[in-house]
Amino acid sequence: MNAGANRTLLPPPTNANMSCPICRSPNHSFIVSKNEYDIHRCPACTVMFVHPFPSPQELTDFYNNYHKSRQYKDKIKSKIKRAKKRIASLGKRGDLEFLDVGCNLGFATEAGRSLGYRATGIDVDTDAIARAKELFPDAEFRCVGSDTLTAEGRVFDIVYCSEVIEHLTNPLQFLRDIRSVMSESSVLLLTTPDNGHYSLPKDIHKLAGWTSFRPPEHLIYFNRKSLKDIFAAAGFSRFRQCFSFKPSAKVIAAP
Ligand SMILES: [Zn+2]
Repeated sequence: MNAGANRTLLPPPTNANMSCPICRSPNHSFIVSKNEYDIHRCPACTVMFVHPFPSPQELTDFYNNYHKSRQYKDKIKSKIKRAKKRIASLGKRGDLEFLDVGCNLGFATEAGRSLGYRATGIDVDTDAIARAKELFPDAEFRCVGSDTLTAEGRVFDIVYCSEVIEHLTNPLQFLRDIRSVMSESSVLLLTTPDNGHYSLPKDIHKLAGWTSFRPPEHLIYFNRKSLKDIFAAAGFSRFRQCFSFKPSAKVIAAP
């Protein structure tokens, strides 16, 4: 996960009157607290989110103590294998441009490269990018946001973004930035925890005990409807959420 994304990509609306981060409705209300953060739910698009968002300083402090990327190092081979399987399932072949957004240590970037694509991994976390370059010297890694690639006029055939969007204070702008580095024939594969998954409890107090329900690391809590809504709002006309036995949403979307 791109640990610094909250700090640099987006100016967060931190005031107590913030509107829904997906549909901008002001009519959300409190449903549960966890880790001393309040979670609100928007009745219009059904997304749940931390309210108010933590300040940029709070997020900076939190991510400065965020050592998750170090734990990842132990599982390099299995992480690459898993990403490779996911990416290959898209069935895209040829000399294609592959982008891994929020690449962290670059496992999926390396997976894309080993599938024969021209692979680029981006992350706003300088530390993660430095380590990705060491681990996978044959792939390209850059410490930028996708808005920089848009400014450069880059277009990617396949975009991969795994377990990133739930960390962000402006997920809609984030998806719009991704959309802008895609052409009509590009495809995006995105994963995020699925808070509406059939295996999870419907009772919000029980759901709040779920391991992926963790503010302030996760700020936005999606289900199928809120994912569909945000992709439509970001300019994607094709949206498909794949069936999964696990409470992880795998979305395949295209402009
Ligand atoms: Zn909403």
